[in-house]
Amino acid sequence: MRPQSYRSALAPRWRLPAGEGYNTSISNLVELVVETAESSLARPIQFLKGVGPRRAELFERLGVRTVGDLLFHLPLRYEDRSSFRKIAELEVDQFATVRAEVRAAGAMPRGRGRSRVFEVAFADETGILRATWFHFSAKALTTRFPIGSKWLVSGKVTFNRFRGSKVITHPDTERDEPEEAAETLNTGRIVPVYPLTEGLPQKAVRKAAHAALEFVEQVEEIAPPGLNERYRLPNVADALRRVHWPPEGMDLSALTAFTSREQKKLIFDELLLSQVALALRRAGARKPEAGAALPVTPAQLDEIRSLFPFPLTGAQKRALDEIAADVSGDVPMNRLLQGDVGSGKTAVALAACMMAVKNGRQAAIMAPTEILAVQHFRNITRLLGLGGPRVELFTSSRRDKAAALHALKRGDVDIAVGTHALIQDGVEFLNLGLVVIDEQHRFGVAQRAELRRKGERAHTLIMTATPIPRTLAMTLYGDLDVSVLDEMPPGRSPVETKVYAPAQRAAALRIIREQVAQGRQAYVVYPLVEESEKLELKAATEMFEHLRAADLAGLRLALTHGRMKSADKDAVMERFGRGEVDVLVATTVIEVGVDHPNATVMMIEHAERFGLSQLHQLRGRVGRGAARAHCLMMADTFPGSPAWKRLEVMTSTTDGFAIAEADLSMRGAGDLFGERQWGLPGFKIANLARDGRILAEARKVAFVIVEQDPALVRPEHAPLKRALAGRFAERLEYGEVG
Ligand code: ADP
Ligand code: MG
Repeated sequence: MRPQSYRSALAPRWRLPAGEGYNTSISNLVELVVETAESSLARPIQFLKGVGPRRAELFERLGVRTVGDLLFHLPLRYEDRSSFRKIAELEVDQFATVRAEVRAAGAMPRGRGRSRVFEVAFADETGILRATWFHFSAKALTTRFPIGSKWLVSGKVTFNRFRGSKVITHPDTERDEPEEAAETLNTGRIVPVYPLTEGLPQKAVRKAAHAALEFVEQVEEIAPPGLNERYRLPNVADALRRVHWPPEGMDLSALTAFTSREQKKLIFDELLLSQVALALRRAGARKPEAGAALPVTPAQLDEIRSLFPFPLTGAQKRALDEIAADVSGDVPMNRLLQGDVGSGKTAVALAACMMAVKNGRQAAIMAPTEILAVQHFRNITRLLGLGGPRVELFTSSRRDKAAALHALKRGDVDIAVGTHALIQDGVEFLNLGLVVIDEQHRFGVAQRAELRRKGERAHTLIMTATPIPRTLAMTLYGDLDVSVLDEMPPGRSPVETKVYAPAQRAAALRIIREQVAQGRQAYVVYPLVEESEKLELKAATEMFEHLRAADLAGLRLALTHGRMKSADKDAVMERFGRGEVDVLVATTVIEVGVDHPNATVMMIEHAERFGLSQLHQLRGRVGRGAARAHCLMMADTFPGSPAWKRLEVMTSTTDGFAIAEADLSMRGAGDLFGERQWGLPGFKIANLARDGRILAEARKVAFVIVEQDPALVRPEHAPLKRALAGRFAERLEYGEVG
């Protein structure tokens, strides 16, 4: 295998910026893979009793392939089923289990809209408890809940004022059949609740996890001797056993809060591993390899600043000073520029590129999408004007590439702007001195490294709109310096944000019409889910037709989506830019970075399907001028659902930092909403919002270990080294993800 594969193998999991020194440590690690593969932990879960090929496939969707994976597929929460509650005793907001029988079941209308809920009335001798489902097949549920059948119903109790009764939404239900073999796994004790995927029942996961515990002793202790004692933590096998199978008397509230010793141990180990990887990376990178110094005189800096038609904000100036100080030294810059959407990162990026150009070196800007690359290209050429440095665009759809590539290699191109096309083979620079990577969370770490390698230790500036919370920044970017743009360019007013239920659609459409009547423009965005791109696209296209024919009839609409040829996409964006289109209907291609100040409305269809980070990014597309802007979140959801909570966050604040913190604390260990929006490493149990103190300790320990034993050759570090290698084994088999 080529060495790059190892590097990319690491990337998706730990998100480490790959660097030269690291590769050596990694190739050592990879030699250990074979050895690791021999334990039972590496065997596919089908090897366990009760797990067939179909189940195995479902487990795979959860990232669980081997027995070892399963042991680390940890419960999200716990339920106390050691005692059942009577319905009359149920308290609102509590998780509880009742033993009850079905009295009635059926679908019924919900509110005034067209949507329906499925409701089952459960009864015991003390009262009635209603269970409701919002997404359902009526036929399946009717068959599942025949009148008179007996059930164990668990979930969080709420109270519905209109129905005048206690309700559990989407409860966990199990047939109350004492003779069932799995019964003891599911009731009569503190029961773990695992993350699931469609089609995989809770019971099956419990059973499989329990079966896997037979091999728990094979899980190696990665903590060096004495460490568990120092922190008063149990050994890993005990911790896993008790976390999957809490023995009688274990403290439910500690388990729920993830503060039991057992959970702390697993959190510590996971963070230790990530921090050791990071420390190795740093140790490797520390070899002082000189980069090209790009000295900038104050006069040159002034000249660069005067390129812009506006005075830079204080924050922009500060960031530029920091960058200038970095690049004038010969240690390659490795800086993260963090600034909320609209804070003016692009200006800073261009100024940084000019520092290279003034020193006779080339610069490159890599953007995650073609639309963005094109936009950067246009803005930059406009700002630099005629007779300035030569700027070229590199995207995969560009036909006449040969000439541009040649010019790049000869050094005739000063600034190369492009997509990942920039890192393809055949792209050669004469003397790349500085690299800017925009919206880095879209790129894999490996890709970043690729671009950097095109230059001799080029200076690197990474830009992100993600306001990364401190704890997270420390883990993800432990080896980057950070500049923050914490000041918005003047004259912005906060975007008015509101949630619209399906029944309120007309009111939202009215806002679009009003704005268009005032000469403004609007975006309508559709979620495009990757797995079923085709279906979603069909939905977007149909919706577009509907908008054009009905909802927004009479306005000038255009559609753009990822499946369009890029020339067509460009054409649409251009028409929108020239004001020839009132409403741009788009899949999430406009998600990042598009800058068009005349757009004042962002309507987000199915806002309930978007994550907080995406919603924030989308909203950031409007409100870029002085005019009042609107964000219309069209959503079909219900109070108390995770989606509802996300939307509440959106309406309560526009501060990207607050949103990031909320997001981090809402998504916990299981990363429930799937997409890793912040580029979070795939932690299984650690939650950086919650476990900041453990992280700090793990970090200390990790850095001491690597300082004392940089190649991890000491016998007491062998398990740690093997654990790191194990991560690679997994990734090598799956191949590169990004
Ligand atoms: P970001 O990339 O951080 O989301 P941009 O760089 O796209 O933000 O800037 C957003 C908008 O603000 C652009 O239209 C840009 O021209 C403008 N802008 C940037 N800096 C300033 C400034 N100092 N004063 C006024 N407008 C600015
Ligand atoms: Mg931007």
